[in-house]
Amino acid sequence: GAKSRSSSIDVPRNHAVSPGRRGRARGTNGDAIEPPMELAARAHVGSMEQYRSMYNRSIKEPEMFWSEIAGELRWETAFDGVDKPEEVLEWNFDPSKGEVYVKWFAGGRTNMSFNCLDLQIERGLGDSPALIFEANDAVNSRIFTFNELREEVSTFSKFLVAQGIGKGDRVIMYLPMIPMMPIAMLACARIGAVHSIVFAGYSAKSLAQRVVDCQAKMIITASASRRGKKIIPLKKIVDEALEICMQNDGFSPDRVVVKGNADTRIDDTPFLNIDDVPFNPQRDLWWDDDISQYRMDEKPDPMEFIDSLDPAFILYTSGSTGKPKGVVHALGGYLVYAYATSKFVFDLHPGEDIVFCTADLGWITGHSYTLYGPLLNGCATVLFEGTPTYPNAEIWWNIVDKHRVTIFYTSPTALRTLQGFGDAPVHKSSRATLRILGTVGEPIAKETWLWYHEIIGDKKLPIVDTWWQTETGGHIITPLPGATPLKPSSATFPFFGVEPVLLDPVDGHEIDGEGEGSLCIKRPWPGIFMDVHGAHERYENSYFKVFEGGYYASGDGARRDADGYLYVTGRLDDVMNVSGHRIGTAEVESALVQHPLCIEAAVVSIGHEIKGETIVAFVILDPLRKKEATQYPEQELVFKVRAEIGPFAAPERVIVVKNLPKTRSGKIMRRILKKIAAGNIEDLGDVSALADPGSIEHCIQAEQRAR
Ligand code: ATP
Ligand code: MG
Repeated sequence: GAKSRSSSIDVPRNHAVSPGRRGRARGTNGDAIEPPMELAARAHVGSMEQYRSMYNRSIKEPEMFWSEIAGELRWETAFDGVDKPEEVLEWNFDPSKGEVYVKWFAGGRTNMSFNCLDLQIERGLGDSPALIFEANDAVNSRIFTFNELREEVSTFSKFLVAQGIGKGDRVIMYLPMIPMMPIAMLACARIGAVHSIVFAGYSAKSLAQRVVDCQAKMIITASASRRGKKIIPLKKIVDEALEICMQNDGFSPDRVVVKGNADTRIDDTPFLNIDDVPFNPQRDLWWDDDISQYRMDEKPDPMEFIDSLDPAFILYTSGSTGKPKGVVHALGGYLVYAYATSKFVFDLHPGEDIVFCTADLGWITGHSYTLYGPLLNGCATVLFEGTPTYPNAEIWWNIVDKHRVTIFYTSPTALRTLQGFGDAPVHKSSRATLRILGTVGEPIAKETWLWYHEIIGDKKLPIVDTWWQTETGGHIITPLPGATPLKPSSATFPFFGVEPVLLDPVDGHEIDGEGEGSLCIKRPWPGIFMDVHGAHERYENSYFKVFEGGYYASGDGARRDADGYLYVTGRLDDVMNVSGHRIGTAEVESALVQHPLCIEAAVVSIGHEIKGETIVAFVILDPLRKKEATQYPEQELVFKVRAEIGPFAAPERVIVVKNLPKTRSGKIMRRILKKIAAGNIEDLGDVSALADPGSIEHCIQAEQRAR
């Protein structure tokens, strides 16, 4: 039976917000921004009262609450708990009481692919758009209806079965954002195979590490990927990776499936001749040659309902903090949570909404909100192969207008890049169909938030700042667009069923009311992961043994203001301690980018004899504003921090750079900058997650010049 706990519910009774201390033009800074009235009127959750009552119920009766939502999807066999609701969820978060586990919807049998496709078709959406593909050139698009997508997925499933792939087998995809990717994901889900997507920007070494870790039976890749004007020879990288797997571990997957891509020239872009793709006929297979026989195949569709507790997929975390972890999600809980968060946070209406989530399918955001969440809600999703700046910085907004996108979801790092191009590219589009904007991935600085709201959202659209992790499966702390009054840079309140707490990093006590601490969660929500692949001790140690008493520790810090709003301050490793003041890197970075000269900042601390730690800032200056630069931009930026936060937070050094070391998901690797700032460049640690290795040398030189 489920464990019951006393719960302190953390949603403010009164969300009326007092004007901010630092008033700003148009009153959008200190005052909370109310949801647009038209949106609230039709939204699934249209007021704070409704949010509070649903939230309270989700905490008091989680089994009933989630059973009802799960009931909106199709279960071939009902999960336990029809007579005894307490059987819907069984769990233990406290390692001192035994093994840590979470079981949602045990006994039930369902299928992700069926719910994404067949269920929607049953409901009459067969001819509605499901997948809207926009190629790198942003000219060639292709739209698949739910019927057409099911046809493709069914064909691919037959192919997988014919290749000997079955339930529980791991399949790695190393693919660009082309229709083959979602089709292959849905096909794996259809037959109960476990996909593990490796973002197609990773090196051969990183790919090899993941292939061996999950013992993949098959790899699906493409001849090449095309990103803007760049061609990346994916098949060549796969061959290198498999060479490494063989040499280091004597391991080799049975099959490599290759999709032809980037073999036609578009305007003056480069292209890759198919004859130049390395190919091993014993092991490799061209999908394009093989597909027709499965299309004609009269065999029945191999769709199979599988156990709620079977793995849905394995996904490796981005590795910002160390060796990537193979996060394993269980089918039933993940399915219900991807469905529910998409429905409420993006306020999705079947057959109406069109979602453009810019995240690559290689990240959890791509899994939950580029693919599964929209389809589970009967909505179309946009898949864009290219980059936000090719052929120009208008491309995303052109896609929004072209496909009448209603929900747009992206990351702060992308927004900062676009902000660097100014407002003109945005103003060339109407963006009239947009209803909701979203952000995820990092704390969003106030300046970026306001630009998103005012320029992209024409001062009208709500922004859902969604805090969550690969491990959480879906949104954890987030506004609901029709209900929550927004404050810039705040992820606001917990989603249904989530009970967040702030723990004192030193003694682990729960901090009530206003305060700051380690962001932990007290009880399971359906999207919580079930294991770290092949490393159950790592599951317990990294997440449940950080604090005593049975908490999921996220590793991030957060602050709660007087109105109960939560602000995620960043990874706890990124909290600095200067003369006894605890300062988040995000706070100082946010102040720096409020200066018009600065478009991006990364702040670290290094040891200091007197203060304990002292702050060093790496900054990128706005190329469009170079002319306005005074002689001492570094000094001006220091003054900005003093004025915004206080003299104690002022960086001791400001180092101007042209780019920053980032992971392939766009996150700044502060641990590397910390070493550079300390002049400690002999051993920079594991840099395999780095997108542009050249950035390290560049920052080292900039640091030395600035001495
Ligand atoms: P690794 O765990 O391997 O270091 P990672 O944490 O970067 O990789 P993800 O699971 O993709 O991998 O990212 C989750 C992290 O992203 C969160 O822990 C948090 O630090 C950050 N994050 C995500 N969304 C937000 C948000 N809205 N506000 C602030 N931070 C966010
Ligand atoms: Mg993480």
